[in-house]
Formats: sequence, C-alpha cells, structure tokens
Amino acid sequence: MRASGETVRPAQHRRDGAFRLSVIVPMFNEEGSADAFFDAVLPVAAGLTDDFEILCVDDGSRDATSERVRARMGAEPRIGLIRFSRNFGKEAALTAALDNCDGDAVVSIDADLQMRPEVIADMVTKWRDGWDVVAATRADRATDSGLRAFFSRRFYLYFNRISETPIPPETGDFRLLDREVVLALRQLPERTRFMKGLFAWVGFSTTTIDYDHGERHAGTSSFKLWKLWNFALDGITSFSTFPLRVWSYVGFASAFMAFIYGSWIVIRTLIFGIDVPGYASLLVFILFLGGIQLISLGVMGEYLGRLLTETKRRPIYLARSTELPERDGARPADDKREAPR
Ligand code: UDP
Ligand code: MG
Repeated sequence: MRASGETVRPAQHRRDGAFRLSVIVPMFNEEGSADAFFDAVLPVAAGLTDDFEILCVDDGSRDATSERVRARMGAEPRIGLIRFSRNFGKEAALTAALDNCDGDAVVSIDADLQMRPEVIADMVTKWRDGWDVVAATRADRATDSGLRAFFSRRFYLYFNRISETPIPPETGDFRLLDREVVLALRQLPERTRFMKGLFAWVGFSTTTIDYDHGERHAGTSSFKLWKLWNFALDGITSFSTFPLRVWSYVGFASAFMAFIYGSWIVIRTLIFGIDVPGYASLLVFILFLGGIQLISLGVMGEYLGRLLTETKRRPIYLARSTELPERDGARPADDKREAPR
C-alpha cells in the first residue's frame, strides 16, 4: 500500500439503489456543538437516504451532552445514544459506535463541526463508485497551532518509516467505511486502539478526498500536546517493533567501538606503559552508555506496559446505557462474525 492516495482497485460491484447510512459521532463535552451538529448533519443524511441513523457516543462527558442528544432523539428516532460509564477516550468511543452501527456505509465524524457534514455526500458518491474506504484528507493545518502541526507532520513521517502498516498523512477519523470493512474492524481484539492504524491495517480499496478542516464550533480541543504524545506512542508501539529491536544494533555498534578503543588502549599501554590520566573520557563513556541503557529500558517498558494492558483483557469500554436508533428490518446473518469483546 502506498502512503497516500488510492490503493488497490475498487470493488467491481456498484452500490446502486437504496442503502442504509450510519453516521457515528464520538462526543466528549460537546454540549455547545451538539445542536449545531445535528442541524448540519440531519439534512445531509436525509438528502442521501431515508434509511439513516446518527449514532452518538457520549464518552463520559461532564456537561449536558447526553441531555442535548436526548432532546433531539424525541423528534428524530433515527438518532441513537450510547453513554459510557466514564471517559474512555475517542478511540474507545469510535470502537463502541462501530460495534453497534448498522449501515451499509458508515461515516465517522467529529461533533465539533471541524469536519463539514456536506463532505459525506461526496464520500457516498465515491463509495457508490466501488471504493470500500473513503478517507477525508485535510487540505491544510491552518486551524492547528504551529507546534501541533509540526509534531503531527513529524509523526506521520517517522511512523510511516518504521511501521509495517503505512497510514496516509493528514487523514483523521473523518471517513466512510463500507459494511465489510466495519465487520473486519470488529474482529480486531486489541485493547490499545489506534484507529488510524487499524483502519489502514484491514486494507480494502481506499481512496481519499480533500476537505477544509474548519474551526471548532464551540469548546476547546481535548487533545493537548501531552495527550497527543501518548497517542503517538500508542500508535507506534501498536504498529512497529522497530524501537524494540533497534537496541540490538545500537548494542552491536557500541560493543564494536568499545572493542576498537579497548584494543588501542592495550596496545598503547604495552608500548608506552601505564598512563593514569583518562578520567574525562572514562566518565563520558560511562554516562553515555548509562543513558543509552536507560532509554532502551524505557522503550521496553512502553511495550511491556501495553502488553500488560492487552493480557488483562478488560473491555475496551463500558456503556451505562445503549439506546440504539429505531431500525426497520433485521440484518442478515453477517453480524455473527463479530468477535466477542
Ligand atoms: N472526543 C471523545 N473522547 C475524548 C476526546 C474527544 O469522544 O476523550 C471526541 C470529541 O467530542 C470530538 C472528537 O472526539 O467529537 C475530536 O475531539 P477534539 O475536537 O477535541 O480533537 P481535535 O479536533 O482537536 O483533534
Ligand atoms: Mg476537533
């Protein structure tokens, strides 16, 4: 797979006619955006199909997000709400929505209107052309702080260098997934859920479309730099073992240099006799190697910690209530392929 643009050829079958659309929305403290979001997304969805659902996941909000969603559910039975028992993070919220959505095409979108819902229509057009995944690519990073844009770019660059699963740069979680892709994602059991990587890992024919990433409608971003750094570590440790393996090579290289230097000292001592000075070089070597060893231990800790999380096999999220949208007609048996969580 190439790191950007289009991948394997799209499926040959065309997706004509009626279809069910699921729009899935992670929400954390979005009381200020929820109403505007529904006002924007409902006409877009209704313009595409009668058979749609908007599935919201309240990721343990501390404000009135759930109340705002419930208020809309009275008038629009095609809105659903899953409430988490606490904040489990955006990746868990997306996972819950993917586990419970029911569409032939599933679109994940943020609630803050930074991703314009009108783009969904273009995504559906591409999906009808046969693409299984349509990822929206940010045309620019103008709405991000300089530091965040800088680190994001670096992240994609280094991630794609060392990961076995490249991810297209500048694609966020605004994307359309065909039902087949959703079923594939439901089979992935890992607890550390770096969704961008999982989306890429399952494969399928993928195309991208550009969109303008807007300003947040209300509130502030929940992703501060420290959270993003940990998110980046999750991504790298989930999709690359390079940081773990590189230490053997660093070890070989330093052992080789130590051997050369050691030989030189032995020869020098044999020829010129014992030479006491050398305190400075000794100290530099000890400190340098000590530092390297601590870094390598730290990297192992990062992996070991995540391994522990995986082996505990705790659920990825806990829902305290699940109110699914009204659906007419049961799904065929393909739902049975879900892996248990
Ligand atoms: N979000 C979530 N759980 C969290 C943090 C964020 O469900 O712990 C949701 C949030 O409500 C929004 C989306 O994820 O719909 C993106 O979050 P945000 O806008 O804060 O991030 P940014 O756009 O700055 O990356
Ligand atoms: Mg946002």
